[in-house]
Amino acid sequence: MSKNLVIVESPTKAKTIGKILGPDFSVVSSMGHIIDLPQKELGVDIDNKFKPKYVVIPTRKKLLTQLRKEAKLKEKIYVATDPDREGEAIGWQIKEKVFKGKDVLRVSFHEITPHAVGEAFKAAREFDANMIEAQVGRRILDRIVGYFLSPLLWKKLARGLSAGRVQSVALKLIVERERQIQAFTSSEYWEVVAELFKPKVFGESKFCAKLEKIDHKKAEIKTKDDAESIVSQLKDKEFKVLEIKQTEKKRYAPAPFITSTMQQEAFNKLRFNASKTMLVAQQLYEGIDIGGDNPIGLITYMRTDSPNTAPEAIIEVREHIGRIFGKDFVPEKPNVFKAKKSAQQAHEAIRPSYVSRSPESLKDFLNHDQFRLYELIYNRFLASQMKPAEFLATTVDIAADKYLFVANGSHLLFEGFLAAYNKTEEEEKEGEEDEKEKTKNVIPPLAQGEVLGLDKLTPSQHFTKPPPRFSDSSLIKALEEEGIGRPSTYAPIIYTLILRDYVRRIKGYLNPTELGFKVSDMLVEYFPKIIDVRFTAIMEEKLDEIEEGKLKRIEVLKEFYAPFKESLDFAQANIKKEVITTDQFCDKCGKSLIVKWGRRGKFLSCSDFPTCKNSKSITSGVKCPAENCGGELIERRSKRGFFFGCSNFPKCTFTSRTLPQEKE
Ligand SMILES: [Zn+2]
Ligand SMILES: [Zn+2]
Repeated sequence: MSKNLVIVESPTKAKTIGKILGPDFSVVSSMGHIIDLPQKELGVDIDNKFKPKYVVIPTRKKLLTQLRKEAKLKEKIYVATDPDREGEAIGWQIKEKVFKGKDVLRVSFHEITPHAVGEAFKAAREFDANMIEAQVGRRILDRIVGYFLSPLLWKKLARGLSAGRVQSVALKLIVERERQIQAFTSSEYWEVVAELFKPKVFGESKFCAKLEKIDHKKAEIKTKDDAESIVSQLKDKEFKVLEIKQTEKKRYAPAPFITSTMQQEAFNKLRFNASKTMLVAQQLYEGIDIGGDNPIGLITYMRTDSPNTAPEAIIEVREHIGRIFGKDFVPEKPNVFKAKKSAQQAHEAIRPSYVSRSPESLKDFLNHDQFRLYELIYNRFLASQMKPAEFLATTVDIAADKYLFVANGSHLLFEGFLAAYNKTEEEEKEGEEDEKEKTKNVIPPLAQGEVLGLDKLTPSQHFTKPPPRFSDSSLIKALEEEGIGRPSTYAPIIYTLILRDYVRRIKGYLNPTELGFKVSDMLVEYFPKIIDVRFTAIMEEKLDEIEEGKLKRIEVLKEFYAPFKESLDFAQANIKKEVITTDQFCDKCGKSLIVKWGRRGKFLSCSDFPTCKNSKSITSGVKCPAENCGGELIERRSKRGFFFGCSNFPKCTFTSRTLPQEKE
C-alpha cells in the first residue's frame, strides 16, 4: 500500500510518472477539470465583485468520490498537473473540491524525467494564488462575452450560434484579409533577365542578371510590346561590369521552439495544423513506450513562450554537437535568446528531454507523426546551440547602354547551424526564397570594366498578387505579433472558428464562410471596442499582470465590463433580424423564400414563417455518390463542424468533409 497520492490530469502522464516515483506513490488521473462554471447560466455574480459560481462537472462526480476514498489512507497528497495557469487552476480546484481542509502540495516540472520530477518533489510548494487568479479572470471574461453575445447572434442571424472573445478578433483578421483579396485587382508586369558569360570560358561561367533600372529609374515594364522592344534594343549592346560588391553575411541560429514557433514550423515543414501539432507534442511530452515496461517523456512541456534552456541541457547539447558535427560548430559561449516581455522566466523552451535519444534511435517506437515532430523539435534544438552560417554575398551591377542589370549571388562559406536544421522548399517567408535563388546563381570571378558575352535575353510575364490568405502558421504569427493569445490559446482559437463553421481550412488556408462574414460584421458594428486588436492585447497583458501579482482580478474585470455593457445595452435595444432574400418562391404558398441558418446549416425558408412552415435545403448540385441513391449533397453543420450530407438523409447516411468530384 503506497503512502502518497499524486494527482495529474491525464492517464498517460500518470503512467509515466508512476514509473519514476515507484511503489511509495499511487498516481491517478483527474481527466482534466473537475469543476467549471455552470452550463446553463451565466455563473458570474456581476454585482457581487464578479464572483464565479463553480460547480462540479456532472460527469466528474463519480471520479470525485473515488479520489476522496483514495486520499483517506494516504499520508500526503500532491498535485502534479501541467506547469501553467491551466494546470495550477485544475490543481487548485482538486484541492478545494476534493480534499478541502487537507494538506495538499503542488509540484510542477517542465519535463517528465526522473531528474526533473525528483527535483520538483523536493521543492513541493503551496499553490500560486496569482496564477489561479489570472486563470479565473480569463475564464470569467470569456464567459461574460460568450454568454451575452450568443443571444444577440441568435436574434440577428440564427439560433445556436456563439462567439468568443479572442476568437472573434482572429475571425475579424481573417475576414478583413478576405475583403482585401476580393478588392484586389491584379496588374500585369514584365521582367527581363539576361544570361551572361565570360567570353573565354562560356559554359561554366554563365550567370543571370535582372534588368533593374532604365535611365537611372526603376524599370517598370507594363506590356509584352514594351518588354520585346527593350529586348530588341539590347541585342547588340555591350554588357560591361560597372561595380562588384562582396559582403560576408552571417545567419544566426534560430531560438529553440516555443509554442507559437513550433506550430508555425510544423505547418510550414510538415503541414500539421495547430491542433494536430499540439496533440502530437502532448503525446511526446506525456510519455511514449520505447520498449521498457512503461512510457518515458521525450520532450519538455509544449505550452511555453520562453526560449530559455536549462543549463544541464545546454552542456549536454554542446557536447553532442561537438561529437556529431565537430568542434567548429560549437560556439565559444552558449547562444542566449531573449524572451518576450510576457514570457514566464521560469519556463523552458520545447526541446528533447534526452539529446542522446536521436530521432533515428526512436524510429521503431514512434508513429509517423510523432517521429516527424520529434525530429523537428530535436534538430531545431541542436541548431539553436550551433554557430551561425556564413555566406559570401555578391552583387554585380552591369550596364548595357542606359539599362542597368543586377546579378545577385550567394556562396555558402560555413554551414553552421544549417547542418542540423535546413530550411526546406515549403518555407512561407518570401525572403527565404530569394536566398535560394541567389545560391543557385553562381557568379564567376569578374573585374570592374570587364565586357561580358550575352547568351540570352528572356522577357517574362508576371502579375501582382493579392495578399495571401492566412494559414495556421501565418495567423498564429499575426496573433503573436499583435499580442493576442497565449501558448495555450493559439490552437483552440483556430479549432473553434472551424468548429463553428465561421472559417474553413481549404488546402491549408483559412477561408471565412458567408456565416463567418456575417458574424464578424455584426460584432464589428455593435462591439467595435471589444473586438479591437489593441484593446484585446491590453486585456491579455492585464491578465499577465494579475499573474505577476501587479493587478487585482476585479480591476481588470471592471475595466472590461464597463465598455462591454455599454455596447451590449445598445445592441440589445437596436439589433434586428437580418433578412436575406432570394429570387425563389415557396411551392406551397407562392411567397418568396429567404435564407436562414439553423442548427444544421443554411436552408431556404418561406418568408411567411410561421404561418407557412415550408422549408427547403440548399443543395450543392453535386449528386450523392452512394449507390442507387440519386440524392444531392447539402452543406451541413454539426457539433463537430462542417460537412456534406445527402438530401435523402436519414434514408442515406453518406457524409464527406469535401465535395466528391462529380462523375459523368
Ligand atoms: Zn410558404
Ligand atoms: Zn445519398
